[in-house]
Amino acid sequence: MSGEHMPRIRVIGAGLAGCEAAWQAARMGVAVDLYEMKPHKYTPAHHHPGFAELVCSNSLRSNDVSNAVGLLKAELRELHSLMMEAAYATEVPAGSALAVDREKFSAYITEKIKSEPLIAVHEEEVTVIDDSVITVIASGPLTSDALAAEIVRLLGNDCQLYFYDAAAPIVDAATIDTNIAYFASRYGKGDPTDYLNCPMTKEEYDAFYNALIGAEVAALKSFDAKAQEGKDPKVFEGCMPIEVMAHRGYDTLRYGPMKPVGLPLPGSEKEAYAVVQLRRENREGSMYNLVGFQTHLTFGEQKRVFRMIPGLANAEFFRYGVMHRNTYLRSPGILTPQYSMKAKPMVFFAGQMTGVEGYVESTSSGYVAGVNAARLARGEEKIDFPATTEIGALAHYISESTASNFQPMNANFGVIAPLEKRVKGGKVARNQAYAERSLSVLKEMLSAN
Ligand SMILES: Cc1cc2nc3c(=O)[nH]c(=O)nc-3n(C[C@H](O)[C@H](O)[C@H](O)COP(=O)(O)OP(=O)(O)OC[C@H]3O[C@@H](n4cnc5c(N)ncnc54)[C@H](O)[C@@H]3O)c2cc1C
Repeated sequence: MSGEHMPRIRVIGAGLAGCEAAWQAARMGVAVDLYEMKPHKYTPAHHHPGFAELVCSNSLRSNDVSNAVGLLKAELRELHSLMMEAAYATEVPAGSALAVDREKFSAYITEKIKSEPLIAVHEEEVTVIDDSVITVIASGPLTSDALAAEIVRLLGNDCQLYFYDAAAPIVDAATIDTNIAYFASRYGKGDPTDYLNCPMTKEEYDAFYNALIGAEVAALKSFDAKAQEGKDPKVFEGCMPIEVMAHRGYDTLRYGPMKPVGLPLPGSEKEAYAVVQLRRENREGSMYNLVGFQTHLTFGEQKRVFRMIPGLANAEFFRYGVMHRNTYLRSPGILTPQYSMKAKPMVFFAGQMTGVEGYVESTSSGYVAGVNAARLARGEEKIDFPATTEIGALAHYISESTASNFQPMNANFGVIAPLEKRVKGGKVARNQAYAERSLSVLKEMLSAN
């Protein structure tokens, strides 16, 4: 189809998924109208006008392909993902993980999108969906209320679910006492300056633990309270508030985010009773986040309790932890593995709201939805990313899962198609085999298309 006659596509939301979708469609020669409600309106977790804002951690997790999210990143790189290009261009050291300077990351993507001639950016909130126009809805886990209501109408029944995610606090590096907190990476892997470690004795842990389980939790925002009338908040295991974890038992934190293993005290072979790790938040090392300390405590309680951590007695908080609504579809039965609606093939969904969980996973669904929306505009067959790849495995999982309680899913090797042959050498060798198979499948797909 010639450019003149080719339909334009709409993408709603300039987050991770929306930017990736818009970019891929434009790369395929399809004109895109990208709608973003910022800077006129912000969700409770977004605060900056730029695109692809990382609302919590600055880490895109493991870089190792024998880890599923590492493989997903390698696949996205192979596929020329804009998010991956931006992430590696704005990387900050974080051991074996890929972490970014969040402001530079967002600025990089915003600049690329705004200077792409085939993408027209509209700064407005979308409240109505026209299902006769090819549309990718990528408005995220905090989709505005009006659009959420429109999505319910579009789906034709009450298919939305709610659960809760929590974000970790960030402290000013200059206010951390480095006579107490020491630099080290777990098991000596990676650059030791990526992490500052706050060691605790048993007495310090006891006092901290008791303060944490007795601390006051913030009231839910009105929309959250309404959404869960009569229900307990549903907490996603991968992003569980520290205080909820503490309530599970005295030792839960010592085997979780506060585990001391692989972090011996400086000048000794011994480990502390417990350790709080602080991860560098930007290249300059001026900010550190409390690893695994997502929380829903009131801000006053966060200051009081987290200042009990050795080294943080005088810490100033750049940002306190928060907890927000997370909206996602019950995608199995509603979406195809191309992220389009079965009932309305012009309408695609992308990002966290499809039931993938995480920055990289949201990007991957934006990639698949964007490419397929563009193919539809070009009059071409949709493309299936097979479950032998992690990008395809997630797409098949969200559309075909038979779980009775469908829950958002991080990248993992449990969703990928099993290997054809048994691989000797344990888990790492098996995961390497998954990675090799996946990357060669993608290379073949790229050369065929
Ligand atoms: C509080 C919180 C913390 C999280 N922390 C992490 C984490 O640490 N690590 C991780 O991997 N994942 C995390 N996630 C999960 C997920 O990876 C992120 O939410 C991710 O940003 C999802 O990408 P997305 O593209 O789907 O949505 P978003 O990045 O949220 O993008 C959606 C965009 O759509 C816009 N929008 C919304 N409604 C409208 C409308 N009606 N019209 C126009 N524009 C609209 C928004 O302003 C936003 O820019 C977190 C989620 C939440 C809610």
